[in-house]
Amino acid sequence: MPELPEVETTRRSLVPVMEGRRFESVAIRRPRMARRNVRPVDVVDRLEGRRLDRLGRIGKFMVGDVEGDITLILHLGMSGKFQIKDIGEPEDMHTNVVFTTDAGQEIRLVDPRTFGFVAAHTPEELEFSSIGSLGPDALEALPPVASMGKVMAGRKVAIKTLLLDQRFLAGLGNIYADEVLSRAGIRGDRESGSLTVDEVRAIRAAIGPVLRAGLKHGGTSLDDLAYLLPDGRAGQFTSRLRVYGREGEHCRTCGTLIKRTVLGGRSSFWCETCQV
Ligand SMILES: [Zn+2]
Repeated sequence: MPELPEVETTRRSLVPVMEGRRFESVAIRRPRMARRNVRPVDVVDRLEGRRLDRLGRIGKFMVGDVEGDITLILHLGMSGKFQIKDIGEPEDMHTNVVFTTDAGQEIRLVDPRTFGFVAAHTPEELEFSSIGSLGPDALEALPPVASMGKVMAGRKVAIKTLLLDQRFLAGLGNIYADEVLSRAGIRGDRESGSLTVDEVRAIRAAIGPVLRAGLKHGGTSLDDLAYLLPDGRAGQFTSRLRVYGREGEHCRTCGTLIKRTVLGGRSSFWCETCQV
């Protein structure tokens, strides 16, 4: 599933072709892709003819300011990827949403599993939307150690599970949570409340470098190539992962074989020597 670095990579590719452009038309080919609006037709009605002033991001959501006080939300779900094409270029299978801009380009959301979505909200709807309960962005608004520690204090929840909780911190998913914990030297199954201040500090300190490294290399494209950049290239961070997806391979620090365990229903990869 695309996480913060993949979504930010996608956003940076879309900004030059979407910001300042007007939506000539919006085609929702699968109604399910507009399911986050009470009336899916609102997505089309609220966007067509209007200009996108800015395309930002919170966590794994791209969030756009559209004229008329409309907020556009784009989410890649499990397998969504955007493509930038000229009008009339052949469409790939599972092209489920097509935005046509006044520059004559098509921004296409290709999503075989349809867990992604597009939404268009009025200010009144935002509180109850998918971004209404998000915590601070893990890259742009990382909270200080003290406030992270305050949330963790007394909690039995595994630290990895907490890192995946988008209300705590927005942007980390299964891959980058494992990478952060590896870099911090902490096991993912540790109870959050058992972490010392130094350990919380180590986790916090690992988040920025891990996300920035992922971003620098265009994100992580796994074997299924569910995530690709809008120009069709694969993210190159995959070969630099410390632990994720490397079960049975040697830890890059100590040589111990990387383990895979299931934590909170998710595959988790870690080094039992380096992580305590
Ligand atoms: Zn190790």
